Amino acid sequence: MSSRQVQQIVTAHRQLEGAGFEVRRPLPSMGGVDTDPFLLLDEMGPVDYGPGEATGAPDHPHRGFETVSYLLQGRWVHEDSMGHSGFLGPGDVQWMTAGSGVVHSEMPAEDLRREGGRFHGFQIWVNLPARDKMMAPRYQEIPREQIPTANSEDGLARVQVIAGEALGVQAVIETRTPVVLQHWLLKPGAQIEQPVAPDHRAYLYVFSGALAVGPEGVEVRDGQMAVMGSGEGILLSTRGSGPSEALLLAGVPLGEPVARYGPFVMNTEEEIRQAMWDYQTGQMGRIQR
Ligand code: MN
Repeated sequence: MSSRQVQQIVTAHRQLEGAGFEVRRPLPSMGGVDTDPFLLLDEMGPVDYGPGEATGAPDHPHRGFETVSYLLQGRWVHEDSMGHSGFLGPGDVQWMTAGSGVVHSEMPAEDLRREGGRFHGFQIWVNLPARDKMMAPRYQEIPREQIPTANSEDGLARVQVIAGEALGVQAVIETRTPVVLQHWLLKPGAQIEQPVAPDHRAYLYVFSGALAVGPEGVEVRDGQMAVMGSGEGILLSTRGSGPSEALLLAGVPLGEPVARYGPFVMNTEEEIRQAMWDYQTGQMGRIQR
């Protein structure tokens, strides 16, 4: 297996999102790295909220892409204009295909808002190909127990397989184009080589500890994203005495024009204007409460 080398390291910047919660955002990067088909990666927290402090993203639209929410700590409630609502807890995944459009709300659960507590999670935006941008919205809501997990033979590496395949385990979530999304936890001494198909672009975001990445063992630290070069496998091993955690993202680039305005991601400016019009005239519906 030809190992992918680290091509570039991007350090996440901090930014306020929604009604004012802080995220670490490696992507889109300040340097404008092209990460097709991924549009955004936000790490929310980890944060310890005091009573009344927790905030989220009240009613907002989406069209033309998918939003993936993956929680590690805390509890979130989401609602949308399709009449759908539910809770997300630690380890749960919501893979929402916004398609032609939904109005969405993502807020900390009532008890987290009232009493405060710890919150940590991710939101990832995956672009849709032109042919799917106006598809009917759909959800894949997968509780923690149903997210396939695998351990390396030596027990030093564990992976939650949200999308794609790892250590012989196949994800249950269905993606519109080939996408890999995996949460890796490596204990000290772990070394793995994860295959990633040559037609995929691959990114590794470290959010705890540090990892040595690629055949040259380039150090990627907490809050940094490695943009991987071409090849097949990705070689990972631990650095230092503590465990390390990372998200592996990979996908086949769409190679289509991207017109992007806030929560709308289409192919042309005309389609963006249409999306704004459709939202403003209520055609994406509203959340009934
Ligand atoms: Mn949303």
